[in-house]
Parts: sequence; C-alpha cells; structure tokens
Amino acid sequence: MTINTFSGFNLIEPIQRALLEIGYEVPTPIQQEAIPLVLGNHDLLGIAQTGTGKTAAFCLPILHQLYTRRVPREPRCPRVLTLTPTRELAIQIHQNLESYGRFLNQKYAVIFGGVGQGKQVRALQQGTDVLVATPGRLLDLIQQKHLRLGKVEIFVLDEADRMLDMGFLRDIKKILTLLPVKRHTLFFSATMPTEIQKLANTILTKPQKVEVTPQATTVTLIHQTAMFVERNNKINLLIHLLKNNKRQKTLVFVAMKHMANRVAQKLEKHGIAATAIHGNKTQGARQQAIQDFTHGQVQVMVATDIASRGIDIDGITHVINYDLSNVAENYVHRIGRTARAGAQGTAISLVTGEEKSYLVNIERTTKHPIEIITKQPYHSETAARAAILSIGKAKAQLENRAKRMRR
Ligand code: AMP
Repeated sequence: MTINTFSGFNLIEPIQRALLEIGYEVPTPIQQEAIPLVLGNHDLLGIAQTGTGKTAAFCLPILHQLYTRRVPREPRCPRVLTLTPTRELAIQIHQNLESYGRFLNQKYAVIFGGVGQGKQVRALQQGTDVLVATPGRLLDLIQQKHLRLGKVEIFVLDEADRMLDMGFLRDIKKILTLLPVKRHTLFFSATMPTEIQKLANTILTKPQKVEVTPQATTVTLIHQTAMFVERNNKINLLIHLLKNNKRQKTLVFVAMKHMANRVAQKLEKHGIAATAIHGNKTQGARQQAIQDFTHGQVQVMVATDIASRGIDIDGITHVINYDLSNVAENYVHRIGRTARAGAQGTAISLVTGEEKSYLVNIERTTKHPIEIITKQPYHSETAARAAILSIGKAKAQLENRAKRMRR
C-alpha cells in the first residue's frame, strides 16, 4: 500500500504542523517508501540522489522516533549520527532538521572541517539529539574527547558513493568501530557499484531496499539541449546565452577549479553578475557564493562537480555544461540541480569536437534524446560533424551487437 499524504504516516503532530507550514503536501516516491520502513525500525538501503526528497525521507521518521522514545540527551553523546561527504551537504541537512523540527524540543548540531572548532564543541557539550558530520572533523573531535558515539541509536550514511570517491572509506571504517553494534542504520547512495554494495553488506542488517530512479523521472522534466562550438568560442557563446536570458537562475559547470574563477570573472566583465564555487575556496566564501546565488544577488554560479554536489537551491532554471563531464553519472547529477520538485528546467551542453564521445555516453545512460541546437551565432560545423559521426558509429555498433545476439 502506498501512502500518498503526509498525514497517512501518522507522524507526531509537531512534525505534521511543520510540514504544513513548510508547504510539503505530497510525499515524494522515496518518502512514500522509506518513511514507513524507518518508522518500522528496518535498516534501509536507499538508492537515490539529491533532489528526490531523500533528506526528508530519513529526517522525518528519525525525528518522530527520537520524540517517541523520550531518551534524555547527554552532553557529547548524540543519539543520531548522520555522516555526509561535504560541508555543504552537512549544512543543508542541518537546516532541514531545524526546519522539520521547528516545533520540537530537540537539538541538532553540525560539524565539518575548514572552520574553527569552538562553536561546534560548545554545541556538542550542550547535548545534541542529531549530529550531522563530515568524517574528518568527526574523528578529530572524537580523538579530542569532545564527542563519543557509544549512545548512537540511529546511524545514517549519506551519499556513500561520493564518500568513497572522496577517499573516506578508511574514515568510515574507523567510525563504524566506534558505533554500537546494535543500532538502526540507513544507507544512501546514488549509485550502487560493487564496492558500495560490499560496504552496505557490512554495515546493514537485513536491510529493506528502496530505489528511486531519478535518471528517468528527473531527466524527463528537463529540456536537454546541446550546442556545437569551438573551444575558444565557448565563453562568447556562454555570454550570448546569458545575455538573452536575463532573469534566469543559471548554474554553469566547468571541469577545473581555476576555470570556475576565470569564467565568473569574464562574465562579470560583460556585466553579468556571477559567482564561483569550488574546492579551493574557504568555507565562508563558498557559503557566501551559495547565499548570493540563492537570493538572486547574482544570476549565475559557476561550479565544479565536487563543490556543487548535493547543493540544494530552489528555482534554478538553467544548467549549462560549459565543459561536458566524461562521466555520464555526473551529467545526470549536474542537470538534476534544475527541475527540482517537479519544476521544469533546461540543460544546455556546450560541446566541442573532442567532447563528442561524452555526448554519446550520456544519451546511452539516460536513454533520453538531447536536442541539438544549431541556430546560435557560434555554431561549429566541424564539431557537429565529428559528433554526428561518432553518434552514428555508436548506434551502428549497438545495432551490430543486437544483430549478433539475435543470431
Ligand atoms: P533532497 O533530495 O532531500 O535534497 O530534496 C530536494 C528538494 O525537494 C528540497 O528543496 C526539499 O525541500 C524539497 N522537498 C522534499 N520533499 C518534498 C515534498 N514532499 N514536497 C515538496 N518539496 C519537497
């Protein structure tokens, strides 16, 4: 039975009241499936990416459980630990907790590296129900005895695939040894390669699997287009697109950190308010960039993949791939920043002759056509021909393979 209203979950009244105030009316697919399972104390293996509503899918039942169990909080001993790969994601989950728990007498804390630890330590000393943390700072504060994990009732591992990409496996294993063996565990990952599956098997006990396929759902809401261009004309094309699109909120992806700055500066020079976000920026500067973009002080944010992962900003109308990612999964994550919660969005990829094979991979993964737009002032016929040739070749290969299988 699917529950398609929030009242159907029988969540405690203060949570229902908060949802009413926030304006959530219909639970998303992952919420419909995951909330009853978490309320039923099942371990959970959630295959879902940001943008599917997964944060509320685990936060809402967790807040409910904490409330109904009524275990008093103790200094330095959180009752729930949520581990996330990036500071941005940690801050976002913490903000969501504060929002969902606005009528509850619970305490939520967030800790991450790159900033002084004083404020974080004070929050832990005051006692916290839910702690959201990145692995490095968590281990650091444990070592300094500001924090113990022995009383954790629920452990959430978020974005497990990204954790591994970022080299956190050893830290995660260390953290696992510090958690009680008897605990409730929720594990989320956007993808499920073998090593993630292995990790999930060691962490979870008789898990229930919940899978949402944003590739299909998100991608169909996004108008996906590509434009062929020579590398040295990319900036001109970008400026042209943005000047013709004044009131829009656009996220531009680049491959390298230094490019993020360079592109943002060039846009500024042409009178387009822009900011950049990447791993070399301080935590304060990254937060400032997100704030400026969220509140519309700048029209454009230029980002690298890692810096943008998990960033949840409403109202992004356009995603522009200034550089196309050679990982099709990244493409899906990138364009998923637009078309949030059912809205429409547009993705534009600026493709050079060298990037042609990426386009083929992407179409193969998403199984969704990308519309080629040639009516633009910097159209490159050479790049277009290279790409069309490569797409044709890939199609022919697939057809041949299918023929061989039929024989
Ligand atoms: P998430 O996947 O957790 O990052 O959530 C993506 C976005 O959807 C966030 O802006 C949430 O506030 C929003 N959201 C989550 N659940 C719902 C819901 N049931 N109705 C409307 N918006 C939601």
